[in-house]
Order: sequence, then C-alpha cells, then structure tokens
Amino acid sequence: MNGAQSNRLTLPASVRGRRVGFSAVMFAAAWLVAGAGSRAGAVEQPVAAAVSPAVEAQMRTAIADAWHDATTTWNDLLGARAYDSDIPQINFVKVVRPSHCYGLYVGSGPVYCSGNNTVFVSLEEMQRLSLRLGPTAGAGLAFLVAHELGHHVQKILGRFRVLQALVRENPRLQRELSVRFELEADCLAGVWAGNSPVFARSETERSNIISTLGAIGDDQMRASEGPMLDPTTFTHGTSEQRLKWYRAGFESRSMSTCSVLEAATY
Ligand SMILES: [Zn+2]
Repeated sequence: MNGAQSNRLTLPASVRGRRVGFSAVMFAAAWLVAGAGSRAGAVEQPVAAAVSPAVEAQMRTAIADAWHDATTTWNDLLGARAYDSDIPQINFVKVVRPSHCYGLYVGSGPVYCSGNNTVFVSLEEMQRLSLRLGPTAGAGLAFLVAHELGHHVQKILGRFRVLQALVRENPRLQRELSVRFELEADCLAGVWAGNSPVFARSETERSNIISTLGAIGDDQMRASEGPMLDPTTFTHGTSEQRLKWYRAGFESRSMSTCSVLEAATY
C-alpha cells in the first residue's frame, strides 16, 4: 500500500472477520472503466481540475455516509455470515494505482480489491463523476460505493468461486459472465437501498440513484463512440440492464433475487 491511504472506515465493530484464502481479484465499478480495456481512450472524460478542499470534503462526507449506511445494513442482513470474511475497508486516494491491488488494476473509477478487502475511491474520478451527474452526484457516489461493497458481499456469499468455476467450464462466455457478475453487484446495491433506513425512506435518493444508473450504463458512457458501438465489449451492462437488476434487488430486498450468473436472461 503506498502512502496515499487515509480515512479508513470499517464495518461496525460487531463484525469480526477471519481471513479466508482467496486469490486477489479486483472489480472496478461502475463508471469510467468502459474505456479502460482494448479501446482505451474511446471515452471522452471531462478534465478534472484540482479538487478544492470544500468539494473534496463534500465528496468524502457523501461517500462516508453511504459507506456507513451500507455497511450497517449489510451487517444486519448477513448476520453470522459476515464473520466469514475480513472486514471491508474504504480507502480514499488521489488516483487508484495498480499497486493498490497487486498490480491488477487498470482504468479509473472506484474499485474493490478482494485480496485486501478494500474499496479504493479516487477523489479525482469522483470529481469527474460529480461534474457528469450534477445534482444527483451525491446519490451517484452512494450507488458506486454500494456497488463496490456488493462485490465484497459476493465474496462472502461465495460468488467469486461460482464465477471462476463457470468461466473454467465456459471460457468463451467469460465476458458475458463478467457482465452478469457486475449486474449482481448492482442487484446487491439495490438490496442495500431497499433495506437501508436512510435510502429506503427517501424518495429523492431513490429517484436520484435511478437517474445515476440511467447515465452510467456502458451504452450511455460510450455513446460518443457513435452507432458502431460494439456491445460485445461492454463490461458492466447497459443502463437498461443495470436498472433492471438494481430494481430487482431494491424491490425484493433479498439477496436471493441477485443470482444473475444463473439467471435465464440478464
Ligand atoms: Zn463492479
């Protein structure tokens, strides 16, 4: 870990983890990673000016509030199962670097690293997101944190192993399975929001998260590529797919709804 870490937040003290053997996997979330693969640079990103202390403080507060709400909610939902894995942490950094996750990370945006159970949040990327989403940015930040924490829940539920087994059996379906896995994290973010004492009661927050999802699907993020946009390069699903699975989790409030890897359609 390099020296950029600060403001570590953890699950409530009632959750005590033990380490389970698990190879490091990173899952970048939701938004600008679309341009990070073979078509790097295809997405135009607003140039982020230096983050002002006031804006940075607002973003940190919005993210910290969402993290606290989400970890508390998951602690209640998972019960004893939360003891099966290390306590997740969130780490604010200027820029997420490969060294944060065993050299695995490429791209931008927040990322969950399963090897160290840490969600890394780049303040520079969060500023770009704030510019893109405008008034719904607070809900957008909350959703991104919830999506990343969804990956940690997937680890607790053994979904990483299911994904790895399915990819071994069906190597040609690797990209589809990866998208399904990302949609599971969206669904789990919906389970959080549906059970959250804050978000479940706030119509404004609910509709702002829906607006965010409408703006960060692969089809929306890469619309600048024009009509030749290639769906076979999508990493997180279209806005329609992301909304579908977020809503499924939100409305059912149940993790059992989120088995997107095995779903007949996605
Ligand atoms: Zn993800």
